[in-house]
Amino acid sequence: MQPSDYWKKLLSREIPGLKPNQRLFRSLPSAPRCKLCHAPFEGPFAPILRVIGFRRWNLNAQLCGFCIKGIAMHQGGAEIPVSLLFADVRDSTALAETMSPAEFRITLRPFFTAVDAAVDTEHGVIDHIVGDGVMAMWIPGFVGDDHPQRAVVAGRSTAAALQARADFCPGSACTPASPTSGWSATRAPSTSR
Ligand SMILES: [Zn+2]
Repeated sequence: MQPSDYWKKLLSREIPGLKPNQRLFRSLPSAPRCKLCHAPFEGPFAPILRVIGFRRWNLNAQLCGFCIKGIAMHQGGAEIPVSLLFADVRDSTALAETMSPAEFRITLRPFFTAVDAAVDTEHGVIDHIVGDGVMAMWIPGFVGDDHPQRAVVAGRSTAAALQARADFCPGSACTPASPTSGWSATRAPSTSR
């Protein structure tokens, strides 16, 4: 199989055995799981699975070493439809100018916690974080054909989690920047500065 064929099948969930394996692993407790094969990293079966290779990969804890080993044998890529979520803190540059870097990091912690929980619940992958911006990805081969719905749910969950915090979302400030392009959370500048 050509590398591009392998990647297209993998990312579209058409690799033989992938779906049954995901179903089997999802039946075992508990999250967090490998985003590709869904092997549990916690719970009673995790120690056994770790011994046979399904342990967190040390360069990306969202995937297991077993999956990475298989992927590494087929270097390449493929173009497929995916769903992306962009989330950031509105006016964060102005906010950062009102406090020290350490305070800024602490201030943003609830935002990152909310995004991480929402993405993980919907089985997305955090692709990268730049400053206060997070990009998450839903790949059909990892989560199934409902990846667009999952990305939207994660965006709504992030905003809902932050709306519960009056310091982050005064009024209705936590709103989608655009229904199709991403979400933005607002953190109000501290009134004491
Ligand atoms: Zn895996």
